[in-house]
Amino acid sequence: MAQADYYAVLGVERDATQEQIKKAYRRLARQLHPDVNPDEEERFKEVTKAYEVLSDPQKRELHDLGADPFSTGGGFGSGFGFSDIMDAFFGGTATRGPRTRQRRGRDALIRLEVDLSEVTFGAARDIQVDTAVACTTCGGEGTATGTSLRTCEICRGRGEVQQVTRSFLGQVMTARPCAACQGFGTVIPHPCADCGGDGRVRTRRTLKIKVPPGVDTGTRIQLSGEGEAGPGGGPAGDLFVEVVETPHDVFRREGDDLHATVRVPMTAAALGTSLRIDTLDGEQSLELRAGAQAGHTMTLPGLGVAHLRSAGRGDLHVHVDVQTPTRLDPEQEELLRKLAALRGEDGPDVGTVTGQRPTFFSRLRDAFNER
Ligand SMILES: [Zn+2]
Ligand SMILES: [Zn+2]
Repeated sequence: MAQADYYAVLGVERDATQEQIKKAYRRLARQLHPDVNPDEEERFKEVTKAYEVLSDPQKRELHDLGADPFSTGGGFGSGFGFSDIMDAFFGGTATRGPRTRQRRGRDALIRLEVDLSEVTFGAARDIQVDTAVACTTCGGEGTATGTSLRTCEICRGRGEVQQVTRSFLGQVMTARPCAACQGFGTVIPHPCADCGGDGRVRTRRTLKIKVPPGVDTGTRIQLSGEGEAGPGGGPAGDLFVEVVETPHDVFRREGDDLHATVRVPMTAAALGTSLRIDTLDGEQSLELRAGAQAGHTMTLPGLGVAHLRSAGRGDLHVHVDVQTPTRLDPEQEELLRKLAALRGEDGPDVGTVTGQRPTFFSRLRDAFNER
């Protein structure tokens, strides 16, 4: 009989790594195992043989040289640990012994609406959170008062049960988590009446939270250990508070700068005036110089939102919008006509056509007027 090509049997390249060989065998073995697929027993044996050879550097070398690795003594099974096969099947050795009832609780996320003033200066807020907390009746143990955990009778506290299956390899022993105790090794004969044995109860509680200045929509504040309590008295997860900034009636936020628009009558823009602006820092007065154009901007330094990661604050920019008077009474119209005539603006074609954007144009004219 010709020497079988074990690379072809496993479907791997001749220069396959040990990891690739193991992976190929694991995949085929799952699919061909006699317990799963009794008709494929012969192929399963062949695949296992191929793996035995290719996973052993010495045997692999013999095979590569065209020799029969099984004729050199030993025969099938020699030097091939049972654990290798189990390892290939189950992808690693299962952890032994019962698992602990204590697990870390999940993280929780809540959203918190904050207004611009809170964002600017920071705030202390009380928030209501609805999470699982450790049951105080049983202290997280899950057992009713005066009772305790009992060793599982099915697995005798090991948390796993062994199962013997017959295969062509002989008796195969596998371990599964015990279904009676879910692998804990203990059972709760009398669950706590308050938490039903989980060790946790859902409660609404109030938390004080500090909102640092400079946060923005999407900023998450992490509160360690304020998330869900863990089952079985395990440690709590974290609570994340995600900031949602509510829009302000007057100020628009861009980064840490604030923007507002002040509307002034045409006459005030032409003659200049004092303006009062309600800022987050209280009332501020601004001098609008005579001849200010629409789009003119005045900046109040340091009256924006605090920087989150450094000292200082952004600026407040006040944009000027000049309002043209409407619904003139006869006297006002008369005065305006007089003004137009005095300025030589009463004829047709007083407009100037330009390709520049209005704001840029206004600034340019501002600069011109300042000379
Ligand atoms: Zn058990
Ligand atoms: Zn309890």
